[in-house]
Amino acid sequence: MSGYFYKKEIPVTDEVEVLVVGGGSAGIAAATAAARRGVSTMLVESYGCLGGMATTGLVGPFMTSFDATGEVQVIKGVFDELVRNMEERGGAIHPSKVRSGSTYCSFILRGHDHCTPFDPEVLKITAEEMVLKSGCRLLLYTKIIDVIMDGDRISGVVAACKSGLRVIKAQVVVDCSGDAEIAYMSNVPCTLGSEEDNWMQPASMFFRVGNVNSDAVEIEISRNRYRLGFDGKRNWGTFHWIVTEGIEKGEWDIDRSSLGMYESNVKGEWRLNVSRITGIDGTKSEDLTYASVEGRKQAFKIFEFLKKYVPGYQNSRLIDTGACVGIRETRHIKGEYILNEDDLLDGIIPEDSILMASNSVDIHAKGQYKGSGVYTTMRKGRWYGVPYRVLVPLKVENLLVAGRPVSATPNAASAIRVMPPCFGMGEAAGTAAALAVKSGTTPRSVNVKRLIEMLKEQGAFLEQDK
Ligand SMILES: Cc1cc2nc3c(=O)[nH]c(=O)nc-3n(C[C@H](O)[C@H](O)[C@H](O)COP(=O)(O)OP(=O)(O)OC[C@H]3O[C@@H](n4cnc5c(N)ncnc54)[C@H](O)[C@@H]3O)c2cc1C
Repeated sequence: MSGYFYKKEIPVTDEVEVLVVGGGSAGIAAATAAARRGVSTMLVESYGCLGGMATTGLVGPFMTSFDATGEVQVIKGVFDELVRNMEERGGAIHPSKVRSGSTYCSFILRGHDHCTPFDPEVLKITAEEMVLKSGCRLLLYTKIIDVIMDGDRISGVVAACKSGLRVIKAQVVVDCSGDAEIAYMSNVPCTLGSEEDNWMQPASMFFRVGNVNSDAVEIEISRNRYRLGFDGKRNWGTFHWIVTEGIEKGEWDIDRSSLGMYESNVKGEWRLNVSRITGIDGTKSEDLTYASVEGRKQAFKIFEFLKKYVPGYQNSRLIDTGACVGIRETRHIKGEYILNEDDLLDGIIPEDSILMASNSVDIHAKGQYKGSGVYTTMRKGRWYGVPYRVLVPLKVENLLVAGRPVSATPNAASAIRVMPPCFGMGEAAGTAAALAVKSGTTPRSVNVKRLIEMLKEQGAFLEQDK
């Protein structure tokens, strides 16, 4: 392919202490936490609202924020505050009130206790309010497309705004893009999916369905409860018997063996996590386009199937599909430590833990049986620690990464990529960025003991003892 050089003077329009790129779960928490610590902060988001996957991708519920026994809420801080603010507006049910096996978690028993059902519209407005109230400047409809390097530091980023290109200068950048875009552009070593063969988890187009007779759905499930759950060998998912019948009748060709359906905080309104598009590289526009078109086609097809075969869906209506397709995995950065699956499953709590979680390893489409996945819950302890080092990339001195692409193996990432840990990692990264600015040091050299104290002051649960 031939290249084309062009020269252009780009105005420097902004200089901030902390720049957060990406306004999803990690970015909302990072921006709020940094600004609350009194540093000038700007949050840049390419879509027209905050929330990332939770709003534009319609992903939900927030997966568990509790420990493996369901007794202690381990992810708090900005996450818990946001949920409580949403609940006040009637836009969420606090996880303490939501139990496994219920409509809110697709009747699943393992690893799904204390999920948080929520309304994406209420999330948008509540997140905007929290971010703006923290003193953070918010710039929507703006995509960061390049970095300007000064040795091993990012001195500024190039932003594509409606009005053209501009440069934003920052002392510390927090990459919450979900795809490690800033890290990748600044030459932090990254892997795309699995290191061996670049395999990445499949994509899904979420959609919402309203006017469902939830009582009828529940009755049908309670009649068939014995068919659900883990039998020591295989995890049998929601309405798998209806999918099997659909396959026999030639009416089901989606690579999924069950129907993931999650009731929202509004009775009769459900989110469907059923479509599956494999072989997608979520860092390519062509693949995202294909996955969106194919995912939407699948969503309408699945909806017709639900109306025909699932009790309670006969008079339902499709409310919406995601404005973007759901991407589970792209890049993983290489940081000061690479978190692995055993660390999580064995409940290891490193000294520099900035977040406790119990989320399970969840790899879609890699199961032994057609359409199934691999889902592994913790085998020791009640929670594990996510070390600060996974947020600190190699090679670049004024950058932190939070959310989906932190330094972890694909299996470990499959656990901590869910939204409550992303909020937790974002809050830690935003707080660390503020601490680095205030103490005149780099994120790599911040006083981690002080960072942990600050996170505790902000309400984080960081108990080392189990
Ligand atoms: C199909 C699917 C099902 C899932 N199910 C669940 C579930 O049930 N529960 C759960 O808790 N989690 C679930 N997850 C996981 C979870 O949704 C994501 O991993 C999580 O939202 C990642 O958060 P994040 O903040 O890292 O990234 P995102 O939410 O992706 O946010 C990144 C933001 O950055 C913006 N951005 C990207 N690049 C740029 C740029 N260059 N300039 C400016 N802005 C940029 C994007 O527009 C986006 O808003 C699911 C994910 C998928 C895809």
